[in-house]
Amino acid sequence: MNQDIKEILLTEEQIAEKVKELGAVLSDEYRGKNPLVICVLKGAVVFMADLLRHMDIPCEMDFMAVSSYGSGTESSGMVKILKDLDTSAEDRHVLVVEDIMDSGLTLSRLMELLRHRRAASVKVVTLLNKPERRKVDISPDYSGFTIPDEFVVGYGLDYAEKYRNLPFIGVLKPEVYSS
Ligand code: 5GP
Ligand code: MG
Ligand code: MG
Repeated sequence: MNQDIKEILLTEEQIAEKVKELGAVLSDEYRGKNPLVICVLKGAVVFMADLLRHMDIPCEMDFMAVSSYGSGTESSGMVKILKDLDTSAEDRHVLVVEDIMDSGLTLSRLMELLRHRRAASVKVVTLLNKPERRKVDISPDYSGFTIPDEFVVGYGLDYAEKYRNLPFIGVLKPEVYSS
């Protein structure tokens, strides 16, 4: 697995430090608001699990699955709900947790939907942000790292469902795509 990685972009330690920082900021932001923290499956699972343990306030978690990418590396521009929330978002302070904002299509659709459901507020935290690739006018309310336009894997992010369990974020060797 590690032999497929060309370069480590963010180490386990760098990620841990940043997630702790974000947890503190979000705890202050949402204190007394009992936020509904939504994990966007599957890429945000690892980030969500670590982030929540640094949020020392009452909050609830829920999960959504949307599809936009299939197994490739380019957004199709279509967002389909594969798994919806169990909880109603109405009147809730919603915090969407995502692995990465790339084109921004997924999150702009998702936030539109949650606002339509009359959430009291909708914000998004992404671990990674790739602003160079944006196709819609959106940016994360909170983000861990801004990264260059490279396809990354690890810490929840996959290529064809693999590499999610790597503890760091890395760039794949080009031959992995073509093999
Ligand atoms: P969007 O283009 O809609 O902003 O991003 C949609 C989804 O594409 C992200 O949530 C993520 O799952 C996936 N994605 C975007 N960029 C990357 C990347 O560099 N690596 C991986 N593994 N997935 C990505
Ligand atoms: Mg995602
Ligand atoms: Mg993926």
